[in-house]
Amino acid sequence: MTRDIQPILDRALAGERLSADDCTALLESDDIARIGVAADEIRKRRHPEGVVTYIIDRNVNYTNVCNVVCTFCAFYRRPGKPDTYVTTVEQICEKIDETIALGGTGVLMQGGLHPDFGIEWYEELLGTLHARYPEFQLHCFSPPEIHNIHLISKLDYEEILARLKAAGMSSLPGGGGEILDDEVRRRVSTKCTTDEWLAVMRAAHRVGLRSTATMMFGIGDGVEHRVRHLQRVRDLQDETGGFTAFIPWTFQRENTALGRRIKEEPTGVDYLKMLAVSRLFLDNVEHFQSSWLTQGLRLGQVALRFGADDMGSIMIEENVVSAAGAHNEADEKMLRYLIRRHDLESARVCLRNHARVPDYASAPRLKTRR
Ligand code: SF4
Repeated sequence: MTRDIQPILDRALAGERLSADDCTALLESDDIARIGVAADEIRKRRHPEGVVTYIIDRNVNYTNVCNVVCTFCAFYRRPGKPDTYVTTVEQICEKIDETIALGGTGVLMQGGLHPDFGIEWYEELLGTLHARYPEFQLHCFSPPEIHNIHLISKLDYEEILARLKAAGMSSLPGGGGEILDDEVRRRVSTKCTTDEWLAVMRAAHRVGLRSTATMMFGIGDGVEHRVRHLQRVRDLQDETGGFTAFIPWTFQRENTALGRRIKEEPTGVDYLKMLAVSRLFLDNVEHFQSSWLTQGLRLGQVALRFGADDMGSIMIEENVVSAAGAHNEADEKMLRYLIRRHDLESARVCLRNHARVPDYASAPRLKTRR
């Protein structure tokens, strides 16, 4: 028997901060309808203008060489293997030119943890791109990559991030968070620990960079680990205020070592519940992103009624989760259609044309009215 969750939802709706026990009770509840209604109400109060944002960009995965092992990853290759690659600056510029031609405003650049890439490699790359595309948003390098630079160049996180910012980096993606609990992380990965991931984010926020925060669940984690993850994100957000958005998604299992071992994977219901509970628990985070790329376009649309106010990206190119089985695609027309049609009452309102929201991870988001 699960607890009656209505008193918890009532307190959240009254503006009270939820405890870890409340969060546990919500995640253990099967009543996703009531949880979703509460999250939708909070989302409406936080964003009464009724706007869902999205962006046109692409993922550039500059290398698949990686010197750690994550059993949930189908993208990486060990150093020295025949099918490794490193993208040249010219190839990245071609991708940016294509993105700009399609109306894109930024790039999400992430890669494996290359054993030879120290701070100078990243500075040179950013410096070249920023000089050539000064207005283009360079949303780059998740905490494991920053930690890898720290190991190679023997510099502390703040110095690394200040130098990357000076070289042209706009903001930091929240990748590599997975589950911020070392009991889970140690079982599935040899990359940076929970404290190290958070320390990179703290340093990024201190040097004036903003970032997103993510969660990938379904990698052998339980409710208690997910609650601890949310608690760590909320605590750091209280301290720095630097997270612009929270983005949960579910583990994609195809072609991964972990996928062959794990018996049960999260369902659509689990995803929607996680998203809605995140909106209720993370009362200090402004934006929540639908992960249509991993959940599919239809469930991604439903997520807009479970707390999300951002539809992510058109994502002209993506290599990491697609290697693990996520093959969903959308063009701008489809994304705008899904946004408008998720709320029939408001769909009668005229569309506002593209506009800029400069405060979302410093990348311009394009808006469409609900
Ligand atoms: S998830 Fe990232 S750090 Fe882990 S193996 Fe894949 S590329 Fe390397």
